[in-house]
Order: sequence, then structure tokens, then C-alpha cells
Amino acid sequence: MPKTIYADYAATTPLSKAARQAMEPYFGERFGNPSSLYAFGQEAKTDLEAARADIARCLNARPEEIYFTSGGSEADNWALKGAAELRSKKGKHIITTAIEHHAVLYTAQYLEKQGYEVTYLPVDELGRVDPEAVRAAIRPDTILISVMAANNEIGTVEPIPAIGAIAREKGILFHTDAVQAVGHIPVDVQAWNCDLLSFSGHKFHGPRGIGGLYMRKGLRLPPLIHGGGQERGLRSSTENVASAVGMAAALTESVAEMEAESRRLSALRDRLLDGLSQLPYAKVTGDRENRLPGTASLVFEGAEGEALLLHLDSRGIRASSGSACSSASLDPSHVLLAIGLPHEVAHGSLRLSLGRETTEEDVDDVLKEVPQVVAYLRDMSPVWDAKLQRPVWYA
Ligand SMILES: *Cc1c(COP(=O)(O)O)cnc(C)c1O
Repeated sequence: MPKTIYADYAATTPLSKAARQAMEPYFGERFGNPSSLYAFGQEAKTDLEAARADIARCLNARPEEIYFTSGGSEADNWALKGAAELRSKKGKHIITTAIEHHAVLYTAQYLEKQGYEVTYLPVDELGRVDPEAVRAAIRPDTILISVMAANNEIGTVEPIPAIGAIAREKGILFHTDAVQAVGHIPVDVQAWNCDLLSFSGHKFHGPRGIGGLYMRKGLRLPPLIHGGGQERGLRSSTENVASAVGMAAALTESVAEMEAESRRLSALRDRLLDGLSQLPYAKVTGDRENRLPGTASLVFEGAEGEALLLHLDSRGIRASSGSACSSASLDPSHVLLAIGLPHEVAHGSLRLSLGRETTEEDVDDVLKEVPQVVAYLRDMSPVWDAKLQRPVWYA
């Protein structure tokens, strides 16, 4: 078996051993339904509540402010649709950004069809949202501000505490999609001034198909799923105890390791960015300062992103071009266009996201393989002038 290198931790992460062990009993003897009143059911309820308390502690929240969902997408949908409905009498204006994950972006577009007005704030060339631009976009009828904590494609970490403070000052609900942040950088719902925050288990070595929404105490969104009244009557469906317990174990572990791991990953990430950005017509995307520890992203002009990742795959390197969700489409990513890249440049994007199992040797290998693949693709490319060694659009 040739060696393989997984460099797509921003798309998903393997289940940690601690999470798997914590989950094991619930696939066997501990199968009780937390809603059952006999002791066996109540044991499951106790375990579920312990998981909720662990997650709350990791976010500096209270246990009763954590609601389990089926993942990050559901949490985002619930936050936006719920807040819009809750505050519809006050106004119908929502502020978000041009670089959100589709779970926020398409929900905002859906709300536009329902009669809401949405402002999509632009970002600068590093992918940063300006808090003062948020302030300037606020109107008397603004009911919700939703800005992601960290971008999944280019790794830029947004100035969330400052944006949260503005929302709080103006009395407007503030949501952040923190799916890429939770478990990777410190997250504090108090310091961030957020009312709503989305997270997802599989992005920090928990199981897939579970996530959650933090909802500030006193705030009660209308439910997205009606039924038996689980999750304080707001999110029905028999509780997924195994996954909740697994997610809590994974997050506790990620938070405990965060300081050391983020230092280690940042160094590996910077080696990749420094090495690969030296190729001709290559450029780092996103902010070099305020950046997720494990996310390296670049564009290589004259090399097509899809082809890049397929050729890397054939050499055992699993990477991504733009976001996993858009890799089936031919349009360049909305994030890369929002940071001002021309279409032809945005097409040459590569995201290498590192994580717990990434080693120095992996980075050495990637630093060896990527330049070879880029050179090969450029030689083949109709938009690359092989003689002049530059993209034809400069010719
Ligand atoms: C992965 C991701 C989501 C979606 O989470 P799921 O649990 O896969 O639904 C939402 N937002 C961001 C920023 C993500 O990276």
C-alpha cells in the first residue's frame, strides 16, 4: 500500500478513540430512551445531560443553553429561520456576509423569497469582515446579524467579539456559524457576545450527523422540528445519546489539546504556505495573521483546481479545491470571488487542511508533490504559456 496523506480535515475528521469508546455502550446495553420514565431511561437522560454540560463548559455557556441538532447545517438553518420568524414583527432586515457557508447563504436566500431583505456584506482581500461595515449596514428594521467565526475555504478568522459587541449595543440578535472554530480556536459565547452559535461534531473528531445550537438564556426560537417535545420543547426527535456523548468526549479532548495542537499545526501550515507560495503565479488566499491553525489555502494560476486535487489523489494526497460542497459544480467558489480573485484565478484553488494525524513528513511530501502536479497541469493547460512560463492572460 502506498502511503496516503489526509489533508482535508476542514471537510471532516476521523472519529477520535475517546469519542468512539464513549459511544460504544449506547450501541449495546445502554440503549434506553431518555424520555422514558423508568430508571433505565433516566440513566440515558443523565448521560445526555452530562454531555450537554461538557459541551457548555467548552463554550463558556450554561448547559440549558445547548440544543442538540443533526449537525451544523441544521443549526444554521434553525438560527436564521427561527430568528427571522421570532423577530418578524420588529423588522425584516438581516445582515450576513458574502463568504458564509451555503447552510447560511442558501437559508438567507430562502428567507429573501419569504419577504425578508438581506444585506450580504463584502469582505476585504484577506476575507475579513469589517465590524464598522456591520455597524453601517444596521437599519431600524434589522433583526439579525449572522457572521461566521472562521471561513471553511480560506481559514480567515473573523473579528467576532467586535461584531458581537455592536449587535449587543444595538439590541440586534447575533448568530455566528462557528463550525470551523469550535474545537480549533478558543470559543467563548460570553466574550463573543453571541445570542446563537452553531457547531458540528464531525469537524472536531466527533461523530457525523450531530451538532448543536447555543441559544442564549431567555431567547426562545420557534422550533424547526415539531413533535414529541425533546430539547426543552424546541427540537423534537428521540435523542441521539450515543452521538451526543461522542461529540462531548471529542470536544473535551480537542479543547484540552488545543493550545499545544494549534501551535504545532500553525507551524506545519506556515511551512506549507511559505513553501508553496514561492511557486510562480501562486498566492496564499485568506489572512496570514488571523487564520485557523490547520488551514492552508492557495491559488495556482494556470492549474485547474479539480484537476489538481484529482492528480494529488492519485499520488495519495487527499485535499480539496474550494469547499467540499461545491466541488461538484464548475462555478468558482463564492468565497474566492468575494475576496476579489478573477474567475480564471479562482479556478486554480487548493485547500490543504491539516489535523491531528498530520506529521512533518507529510508536509515534506506535500511540498514535494504539489509543485510537480502544478507544473504538469500547467504544461498541459491551454491557459498557460509553456514557453513564457506564465498564464496566457498576462501575455
Ligand atoms: C461543515 C460546515 C457546516 C455544515 O456542518 P454539517 O455538520 O456538515 O452540516 C456549516 N458551516 C461551516 C463553516 C462548515 O465548515
